[in-house]
Amino acid sequence: MKRKINSVIISLVVCVITLITIVSSISFSSIYEKNEIIELQNECSLVIKGYELDDISYLESIEDSSLRVTLIDLEGNVIFDNQLDESEMENHASREEFKEAKENGYGISKRYSSSLLKTFYYVAYKLDNNIIRVSKVADSTLYILFINLWPLYIVAIVLIICSILLGFLLSKKIVDPINNINLEHPLENNKYKEIEPLLIRIEAQKNELMKENEEVLNASKVRQEFTSNVSHELKTPLHVISGYAELIKEGIVKDSDVKEFGEKIYSEASRMSKLVEDIMKISKLESDKDFEKTQLKLKNIVVAIVDSLMIEADKKNVKFKLSLNDCSISGNYDSIYSLIFNLVDNAIKYNKTNGKITIKLQEVSNNVILSVKDTGIGIPKEDLDRIFERFYRVDKSRSKDSGGTGLGLAIVKHSLIVNNATIKVESELKKGSTFIVTF
Ligand code: ADP
Repeated sequence: MKRKINSVIISLVVCVITLITIVSSISFSSIYEKNEIIELQNECSLVIKGYELDDISYLESIEDSSLRVTLIDLEGNVIFDNQLDESEMENHASREEFKEAKENGYGISKRYSSSLLKTFYYVAYKLDNNIIRVSKVADSTLYILFINLWPLYIVAIVLIICSILLGFLLSKKIVDPINNINLEHPLENNKYKEIEPLLIRIEAQKNELMKENEEVLNASKVRQEFTSNVSHELKTPLHVISGYAELIKEGIVKDSDVKEFGEKIYSEASRMSKLVEDIMKISKLESDKDFEKTQLKLKNIVVAIVDSLMIEADKKNVKFKLSLNDCSISGNYDSIYSLIFNLVDNAIKYNKTNGKITIKLQEVSNNVILSVKDTGIGIPKEDLDRIFERFYRVDKSRSKDSGGTGLGLAIVKHSLIVNNATIKVESELKKGSTFIVTF
């Protein structure tokens, strides 16, 4: 990047200098030519004055070797030339400056002299019987530029050095803050405005990464907690089962007690298998991404669940009151079944004897609402936020006595996510609870 900035600045300076040199060379060389001719005209006037005073002997006395003086008669014959032998010179009648001077009294030209092998400026004036011509070597344009434009070259060198320094400083100013960004606190590095969007993006990415990291840590914490909870939940029934089984195996148990022991083993084994079943349901709800969704008639599902739980309800003489409209939703059958089953199951488990359960299904402003209301023990306000956590129980012994695994509402929570539904709980201690699901 630094090299790029440097080369851009240097190329720019070189281009500008080249352009200035070309433009100034063009205008300078035309000014230079005009000046040379004016000077030559002045010198010619002086030579004429000297010639008029002193005739040809003046011309012979001219010592300036850079000035060539030629005296030509009106026919073009060279009478005198201070640099060449006039007897060997050809007729000059065809020379441009001669022709012009003969016609108009004055003529100029610039031309390559084949006799002296150089380019000359010529100025010629007509006198009474002759034409006097002075000429001077015309320096080459490159030579003129080299000799006269040297201040420009010095400026160019200074400019190139300055631009290298400027490029270096500029690129350092741009690049250094980027190289030294403190990734821990990106927004504290705001050295110049243009870098701000980059810093904001880095900050956002950093926050995103931190959030992801936190989520990963939380997930692993939750998984760890879940594993230890599961082992704990399995350990208790296993102890009970192995304890009773051992007593029976040792023959310590009286015949009259075997039935009771057998029932205890059976009930603990059932609790274990229910626990394993619930764990499998949760991990399926958590791990599966593409749940098959179909159009479901919720009324049919509710009726089937109530039927399957009727024996449990009868044990406590809990009565159902159903108010079910024909409502359909698009959802995943198994998860919706588990969701409603757990709500109704809890409404029985945590109800009082001779209690009542009211289940309503209705459509309210394009939403299907399912409510399960019981007349049970209710849930304390401070526990309402936590009952959907895995293995969270308000009253541990009551949950276990009624065969609860502590996973019912966690399954409900996951089923809600799978089916894009929400839940609201209203509860009053000793009066009952209402779970309202909006699909
Ligand atoms: P459990 O298997 O213990 O019933 P859940 O996840 O289904 O586990 O419920 C978590 C806790 O929420 C229960 O232990 C209970 O304390 C409370 N709870 C759930 N439903 C009700 C209800 N209808 N009435 C009173 N308490 C309830």
